[in-house]
Amino acid sequence: MAKGLLIVLSGPSGVGKGTVCNELRTRMPDLVYSVSATSRQPRLGEEHGVNYFFKSREQFLEMIENDQLLEYAEYVGNYYGTPRDFVEQTLEEGKDIILEIEVQGALKVKEKFKEGIFVFLLPPSLDELKGRIQGRGTESQATIDNRMSVAAQEIGLIENYDYAVVNDEIDLACKRIESIIIAEHCKVRK
Ligand code: 5GP
Repeated sequence: MAKGLLIVLSGPSGVGKGTVCNELRTRMPDLVYSVSATSRQPRLGEEHGVNYFFKSREQFLEMIENDQLLEYAEYVGNYYGTPRDFVEQTLEEGKDIILEIEVQGALKVKEKFKEGIFVFLLPPSLDELKGRIQGRGTESQATIDNRMSVAAQEIGLIENYDYAVVNDEIDLACKRIESIIIAEHCKVRK
């Protein structure tokens, strides 16, 4: 049986990865979502095993030690990582799986899974991204400036990716990603 496709959706903070990924999951019910582990606290409404596997820092470090993570990264003081077994098992079953992760983690996946499909989600412009980060209303000016400079650096890593998708409109962004997945399945080498 043909293996499934590993799709990595990444991009700078504030670009809307989570929103696009949720919408894709609704539109493509056969697409399996990789639930990450994190050491951050759950937000209101988030469920263990659905949004994340919530772990203590110690538990997370144990997962790293036992080589249970395909990749992990520290992001704004918390750990985030992709459980390895679930991804490998899903691909073996011939199902496609999507990882919604930040840029450093995506590059680590690429080292291990060259055959993965790496999609970089872009804001329509840096000004728009700034507006979105400010729009959350929770960040200080220093934090916003810091996130903007991180975002600019992350965008500089786009050449490591296979596809660039502009998130100008959620519907269009999802259509573009759906088309990428369909096209990848049509490739002759597959
Ligand atoms: P949040 O705390 O807002 O849910 O996520 C913060 C960032 O961590 C987002 O950019 C999200 O894509 C990223 N992230 C979520 N899960 C993982 C993961 O398993 N690995 C990595 N490297 N990043 C992740």
